[in-house]
Amino acid sequence: MEYIRRELEELEKQGLFRTLRLVNGPQEAKIVIGAKSLINLSSNNYLGLSNNKRLKNAAIDAIRKFGVGSGASRLISGNMLLHKKLEDRLAQFKKTDAALVFNSGYSANLGVITSLAGKNDIIFSDKLNHASIIDAIILSRAEFRRYPHKDIKNLESLLKRDNIFRRRLIVTDTVFSMDGDLAPLPELAYLAKKYNCLLYIDEAHATGILGKTGKGALEYFGIEDDAIIQMGTLSKAIGVFGAYVCGSKMLIDYLINKARPFIYSTALPVSVCAGAIAALDIIENDGLLRQALSENIKFFRQALRSFGFKNSLDPTPVIPLLIKDAVKTMEFSKRLFSKGVFVQGIRPPTVPAGTSRLRITLMATHKKKDLEYALDKIAKIGKQLCVV
Ligand code: PMP
Repeated sequence: MEYIRRELEELEKQGLFRTLRLVNGPQEAKIVIGAKSLINLSSNNYLGLSNNKRLKNAAIDAIRKFGVGSGASRLISGNMLLHKKLEDRLAQFKKTDAALVFNSGYSANLGVITSLAGKNDIIFSDKLNHASIIDAIILSRAEFRRYPHKDIKNLESLLKRDNIFRRRLIVTDTVFSMDGDLAPLPELAYLAKKYNCLLYIDEAHATGILGKTGKGALEYFGIEDDAIIQMGTLSKAIGVFGAYVCGSKMLIDYLINKARPFIYSTALPVSVCAGAIAALDIIENDGLLRQALSENIKFFRQALRSFGFKNSLDPTPVIPLLIKDAVKTMEFSKRLFSKGVFVQGIRPPTVPAGTSRLRITLMATHKKKDLEYALDKIAKIGKQLCVV
């Protein structure tokens, strides 16, 4: 046990020790932590749906009818009506032939990537892809090339060079989870076709947000390409839990037979499926939440710039404020907390060394006066800590 203590002390020394905060209430634009109510700038509940009445009622109805547990994995006896309904709804929403639900985004990435690529294959992955993608690639035992962030030229040179493999797969987040910027999807789709590779996209932070009807990055860029395999989570803008993969019927049959996290794990509780179906109905038929989120994003990003921060104007709700130093990042977060604003600091290994940051996330349900208050505190504390 000695080495555990030593490693924890080392984390502490480097300002990298992590602890849990206890949230005492629902996930909303204001959040109660301990006994304190704070403006919540650290939730992926972008549309504010996780405590929405329609979703909650749909989940409660499902529990009344079908119970709280699903009893077994999907391939044993756990495949219930609402799993099928949600998958049909997702396929319709994403305009694909079929969909398959997984228990989390993490397990979807593990399941799909390890099914699509193995020992004699190669995977090309953006350097800033999510940790679950990196873990999946390592688990797949395929060869692994990380191309510099969004560097299409570098990727193309790798594709030209590494061409002796059985299968080749390009993987990218469409909205990068810690940076909030967009992958160059049209160029990636072009390269995938040109070099005969599969393209797998992680839409965790795009689904429900990007595109005219919230379908994600493909809709945003106007790309229609059946060959692209789309994965996304049900836990962020959709407000519930779990994940999906959308694609051809053949792909879904393949994953049902190959994806180990799907095969060997108990099915999602159907209350979660009912909540997600209700969320998709809201997202597809009511653009008001998306519009409110988009207005908050524009307002907040512009305001930060006017205070001297060097953030981008990307149309996404994930806004990194780069501080670089881990200790200073956590000090910034602590001072904001004391003023009633909750922004989590993000440190290595979640982000590369020397790129610690505040990761601000916006919601459709944030009130303008609360955002103004938070911006004022961010600007003042930023000055005190000399980061603007
Ligand atoms: N992919 C990305 C890009 C993510 O940001 C996340 C979650 N933070 C995941 C996958 C994992 O999803 P989940 O939380 O549902 O496991």
